[in-house]
Formats: sequence, C-alpha cells, structure tokens
Amino acid sequence: MTTHPAAHPPSPSPITTALAAIRARIVASARSAGRAPDAVTLVAVSKFHPQSSVVEALRAGQTVFGENRVQEAAEKFPSLRQDWPAMRLHIIGGLQTNKALEAVRIADMIESLDRPALADALARAADRTGRLPDLLVQVNTGDESQKSGIPRAQADSFITACRQRFGHAVRGLMCIPPADEDPTPHFRYLADLAQTHGLALLSMGMSADFEAAIAAGATHVRVGSAIFGHRPASAPNGAIPPARLAAPES
Ligand SMILES: *Cc1c(COP(=O)(O)O)cnc(C)c1O
Repeated sequence: MTTHPAAHPPSPSPITTALAAIRARIVASARSAGRAPDAVTLVAVSKFHPQSSVVEALRAGQTVFGENRVQEAAEKFPSLRQDWPAMRLHIIGGLQTNKALEAVRIADMIESLDRPALADALARAADRTGRLPDLLVQVNTGDESQKSGIPRAQADSFITACRQRFGHAVRGLMCIPPADEDPTPHFRYLADLAQTHGLALLSMGMSADFEAAIAAGATHVRVGSAIFGHRPASAPNGAIPPARLAAPES
C-alpha cells in the first residue's frame, strides 16, 4: 500500500476530545470498582449549549443526553430524532407540573420524579398521550430546602406509591448531593435505597464526582461542563449554580 504525504486528518473538535476523555475515565473507574464498563451510561448534559453542540456529540457517538428544562429540550431535540433514531433524551431538572405533558411527549426518561403532585401530572399526561417515559425517583439525599427531590423520610413511601402507579416504568433513583459535602455517603445511601426497592438504575455523579459515583454503583452519570465547557454564569432558575460547576479537566 502506498502512503501519500497527504493533509493531516482534521483535528477532532473539543467536544469529541472531551467525550473520549470522559469515556476513558468512566471505563477506568468501572474497572477499578470491579464493574463492567458498559454497566455505566454516560448522560451528556447539554443544557445552555446550542443544538450544534449536541450534533457534534452525536457525531462523536454519544447517544444519551440530559436537559434540565423542558422548553429548551423541546427546542433542541425533537428535530434531531429522524436523523439520529438511537438518540435518547433524559429530563433531569426539577419539573413543574404544567410542563409534565410536554416532558412526556419529548423525553425517553424523566429522572426528576420527586413529589406526588408531579406523579399525578405525569399520570394524566400518560393517559392523554398514550406514552410513558422511563422514570427515576429523585431523592433529596441532603434534605436541602432549596433542592428538588423527595425528602429522605418520605422516600420509601413515595417510591412504593410510584411503583404501584407506574409499574415497571419506575426504573431507579437519582440524586444530586449537597455541593459542600463528600458525595460518597449520599451515593451509598441512594444505592442502598435502590437495592431495598429492587430498582436497577442509579443516576448519580456529575463532572466533579462521577468517578466516586461509579465506585458506589452508578449506572448513569450526568456530565455537562466537562464535555461541553462552561455554561453561561447567569444560569436560569432551577439550574445548578455556577459554584457547583467543575472545571473541565485539561
Ligand atoms: C447541570 C446538571 C448536571 C451536569 O452538571 P456538570 O457539573 O456540568 O457536569 C447534572 N445533573 C443535573 C441535574 C444538572 O442540572
């Protein structure tokens, strides 16, 4: 075979490079925890980043995305489905009941089922649309007043009620530990709670702590800034405040 002193291949985009690095770290953490690397799904959190960034990630082989606002997700994702049928959209942010219908229409998974009123709204939306996304119950493991999630003391009864109502659509649990604490005890608590209820999925860990989450059993890690770069500092309501954001690894 002859080789040509051809042009260099185009250099990969920053998103492609960051995704490869995160995937490598996921594989390494899974292995060192004695877990299969494919037991961990990377949810690429694209909130506040344009659709073009999502497309770049799709081209780099990423299929699962997380958005925390329904309106933003509705603007960015449905039009991509035809070209990218394997794409999966997770709604990961606190969900207002008046957004439940739209969320049920566009999402493959809703990770933020956290209160009875939202369960009611999702049930009505499922009746209306004939469709029910997979669901995770979000637990406020730090019992923080400003954070969404069912409080610890109500978690058992709420999970039980959701499973009675939605059956196998309830796939697991999600949490966002307090920003100023060691996340590992929160991850372990969530893993124990999932096991108690026989639930398979655990969405926990973000840019700053996904490796600790994998060590504690995460099946889904939600990584945003380490893939897409920093978000605008004035994040809209409901967003993780900038202080919580991790710097992308260089
Ligand atoms: C923004 C967000 C993330 C991703 O946060 P990074 O620190 O950028 O990785 C994960 N989970 C939820 C619920 C979020 O809102």
